Amino acid sequence: MTFEQSEIKERLLWLVRLRWIGCIGVLVATHVVREIAGLDFSLIPVYLILGFVAVYNTYFQYKLKLPSEDLQKCAIKQISLDFIALAAAVYFSGGCDSPFLYYYIFHIVISGIILPRKWTFRFAAVAIALPTTIMGLKHLGILPHFAVFRNEPVIFTDLSVIAAYGSVFISTLLLTAYFVTYLSDKLYKKQEEIRRLYILSEKLRSSIVMDEVIKTIREELSSLSGHTNIIYMPLDRNKLDLVYDNGLNIFSIPLTDKNIFTDTLVTCEAHTLESAVISSEHEDKVFKTLMKDAKEIAVLPVRAAFSSKCYDYYHCPPDTGCAAYGSEDKRCWYISGTHCHGKIMRNTTEKLRECVKCDMFMPVGIFIVDITRNPRLEAKCDLDACMRLLDAASLAISNAKLFEKTLELSETDGLTGVKNRRTFLKLLDSEVHRAHRYNKSFGLIMMDIDYFKQYNDAHGHPQGDILLKLIADIIGDRLRDTDTVGRYGGEEFIALLPETNKDESIVIAERIRIEIENHKFPRAETQPGGRITLSIGVSSYPEDGDSPEKVMQSADDALYSAKNMGRNRVVVANVPII
Ligand code: GH3
Ligand code: MG
Ligand code: MG
Repeated sequence: MTFEQSEIKERLLWLVRLRWIGCIGVLVATHVVREIAGLDFSLIPVYLILGFVAVYNTYFQYKLKLPSEDLQKCAIKQISLDFIALAAAVYFSGGCDSPFLYYYIFHIVISGIILPRKWTFRFAAVAIALPTTIMGLKHLGILPHFAVFRNEPVIFTDLSVIAAYGSVFISTLLLTAYFVTYLSDKLYKKQEEIRRLYILSEKLRSSIVMDEVIKTIREELSSLSGHTNIIYMPLDRNKLDLVYDNGLNIFSIPLTDKNIFTDTLVTCEAHTLESAVISSEHEDKVFKTLMKDAKEIAVLPVRAAFSSKCYDYYHCPPDTGCAAYGSEDKRCWYISGTHCHGKIMRNTTEKLRECVKCDMFMPVGIFIVDITRNPRLEAKCDLDACMRLLDAASLAISNAKLFEKTLELSETDGLTGVKNRRTFLKLLDSEVHRAHRYNKSFGLIMMDIDYFKQYNDAHGHPQGDILLKLIADIIGDRLRDTDTVGRYGGEEFIALLPETNKDESIVIAERIRIEIENHKFPRAETQPGGRITLSIGVSSYPEDGDSPEKVMQSADDALYSAKNMGRNRVVVANVPII
């Protein structure tokens, strides 16, 4: 049983209990009134009505214990039977119908809490029509008068009294129906939202991989908006553009461009936009390329869940260069979406564009959601609910970002930015498997800087580090995106060239050697020949080995030969040196 069903069941059980209390109350009240007021009226109709109520109340009490019961149907049946009992009571009341009319109102409240809006209004219509018809027929003499509480019928002759009395009753009923259903709808929506947030947090807890986290959030936003067209655009690494990358195309919006997307990011507030009122080139592009079927979109900010707080920098010195620095307060000013409570300055959005570059800035990207009114959904997309969803998801996004960063750090060499030895060997291992399965070849190039110790000794380690980084960059630039460069040792680099045969590998190795030889490196004059050079060994799979170790060993042996033969040259494994 869902949470919602058990809630309905609980409310229906209370209705049954209240009905028992009502039955006893009416029984006692009629006896007391009869004795105290000394009225002489028949109790038979009272017993008949109460007996009828007791029978169906017992029946529903039993029915509610059964697990298969359709609870909404059960509620409709119960309230309908209550209306019949009330109609009988109104008929027999002989003008003392007010208590029963209040019971109608009470039932409208109950139906509003349990049933959908349309049912509450149907019952409200019946609650107006039924007693009015009975009383009208009695007054017209069509129905015989039968009063339990009075022997004589109370006949209102003054039409204005009837109108006043009737309009109070009718408006009370309608207002009750309206407010109860309104509140109940809100309550159910909140309940639904809490349920969704709970499910979302459950799902998000199961992954810290960014793609999976974004997929989960998109699914939830999709069910809230009724559209599947949802795009995530994170702020790029350099915090200069919002970027959408679907693996095939890259679309970016620079922060310098003022449009709804950059405004959403910097102010950290949700915005909506209709396709008919586009005011910038990027807005036009988004509608034409990314959100083709959308007539209206919502742009929602995603914030980092944790960040430095501006007020941690209360006394930050004026020369930090931070655009958010308020010289009067000597502190950074308010940034929407952060924890900072500083002063709001003029030109907020413009200033915030600068703040984006600051580490304290919380927004990490935006979601663009199609919110074109969907006929399948009763209500328009609830943007507040979307925002609360994104707030709940921000921790997962931040964790995924941290995880991405950690993964990247664990795979790269801190100095040169190329893959570290462990990661390179792992990639080489899988490349051997891939090449074996698909019958492909690959090349391996091992490079060592000549007389690097001498450079280090002459200019110091920090200068040697700079040289290492420069050489790594040049090697990286000379290779394709699909190739991998690794730092194998101190001043040794290694490159893996998938889908490349031996001859092609030799050409690439020679190109790298020439590029380094001709490059004007700083302080190269102290090196032999006044130049920085590389010795290179080339091997390839499968000719020079059928395992990662064997191909590596072949390249290493070739490199060793290159060193022995005088350096600054390319030697190929298992090729006789002439
Ligand atoms: P060869 O031509 O035979 O390769 O001579 P070499 O001087 O380049 O080779 P050797 O193995 O004698 O020296 C390598 C030097 O690389 C020694 C070491 O201090 C330096 N080195 C290793 N790692 C780093 C590093 O991260 N930064 C700097 N600056 N130097 C490094
Ligand atoms: Mg060396
Ligand atoms: Mg070396």
